[in-house]
Amino acid sequence: MLGILEARPRVGYFFAGKDPKNLISEKMNDIKVDKIKSVPSVIKEDTSVYDAIVTLFLTDVGTLFITDKDGNLAGLVSRKDLLKTAIGNADIHKMPIGIVMTRMPNIITVTPEESAYDAARKIVDHQIDALPVVKAVTENDQEKYKIVGKVTKTTITKLFVELGKT
Ligand code: ADP
Repeated sequence: MLGILEARPRVGYFFAGKDPKNLISEKMNDIKVDKIKSVPSVIKEDTSVYDAIVTLFLTDVGTLFITDKDGNLAGLVSRKDLLKTAIGNADIHKMPIGIVMTRMPNIITVTPEESAYDAARKIVDHQIDALPVVKAVTENDQEKYKIVGKVTKTTITKLFVELGKT
């Protein structure tokens, strides 16, 4: 079951020749984002920075995803993006989150079909905490993205713990 031994009729069992290290990478590549994604916290572009901060606390997340009026991915804000805005001189009750967010097309995303390894790689390579899981849709001849989940450093840590269980 571990893939180390294989069986063939009249031959018997034989060593499959796989390095245990490759077995781990096989697992990471077999598990799809769709299986590990979790529920994202999503707000609209015209939400005030103040309400965004309240949402961050109430939903116990580190990154908020932001949609435009049509419900498509417009951007995101991290904890530090919000801290930076809050310590500035802006009126956070009046300022919409759309002004301070990191916006499309600069958002690193992942699709449900990509692997857990692909997602972890993107988080490490781009030094970020979270990825929106998206499905592409065509609206008015333009490619847009619907948010269907999230993969964060916590998601990957949980998977790591799951795979490490004895
Ligand atoms: P923090 O800012 O709290 O350390 P991150 O490391 O996730 O959290 O974010 C660092 C910067 O990268 C922030 O400005 C944030 O808006 C941006 N960022 C976070 N996630 C993404 C992403 N998936 N795609 C593009 N930019 C991102």
